[in-house]
Amino acid sequence: MKINEIFESIQGEGLLVGLPTLFIRTAGCDLRCVWCDTPYALLESQGTEWSVDELVTEAKRHRVRDICITGGDPLRQKEEVVLLISRLLGEGFRIVLETSGAYPIDGLPRSERLVISMDVKLPGSGMEGRNMLENIDLLRKWDQLKLIIADRNDYEYARKLLSGCSIPCEVIMTPAGGRELKWLAERVLSDGLAVRVLPQMHKYIWGDERGR
Ligand code: SF4
Repeated sequence: MKINEIFESIQGEGLLVGLPTLFIRTAGCDLRCVWCDTPYALLESQGTEWSVDELVTEAKRHRVRDICITGGDPLRQKEEVVLLISRLLGEGFRIVLETSGAYPIDGLPRSERLVISMDVKLPGSGMEGRNMLENIDLLRKWDQLKLIIADRNDYEYARKLLSGCSIPCEVIMTPAGGRELKWLAERVLSDGLAVRVLPQMHKYIWGDERGR
């Protein structure tokens, strides 16, 4: 597999926020979100080759029991990622798989120790045309749907999306950039949305530092 970086940090996003986590960042994504904060991982050439065996050995070398497989988009290398997830589950790890929502999420292990963290891209990303909205029906109740809100237009798009379909899991709204929460929190309260408003906590701790 093409891997961009492996590092320990605090999970900064989603329902497992705050937990010490080993991040395995795959290389390669063919989306180009306006606010992408990992431009250094968009090309496969920005990664080095690791086998699944080597990645499992590396994971076992660390003390943390939570692993986040992120990117790029890991599902660009789906066959290897499915194998990696199965092996890591077999070793007792809990895994968050982050994906853009632009690739099919079928065929993934069904364990409750695998949390699929899937985006729906909103207009402010410039990539809403890449959404595979049929993926939403494949999310399980322990997964999470992430909406990165860049502006009022994104918020309205997200609000209509949520009112127009049934989402089987928790929904998380995070402001683009991860820090400006107040306006978003006020909109969610005023509209009575049953979503979580969350920051990107690692940005409060380490700013935009890479590998954090
Ligand atoms: S899907 Fe993720 S990695 Fe790809 S461009 Fe968008 S934010 Fe960046």
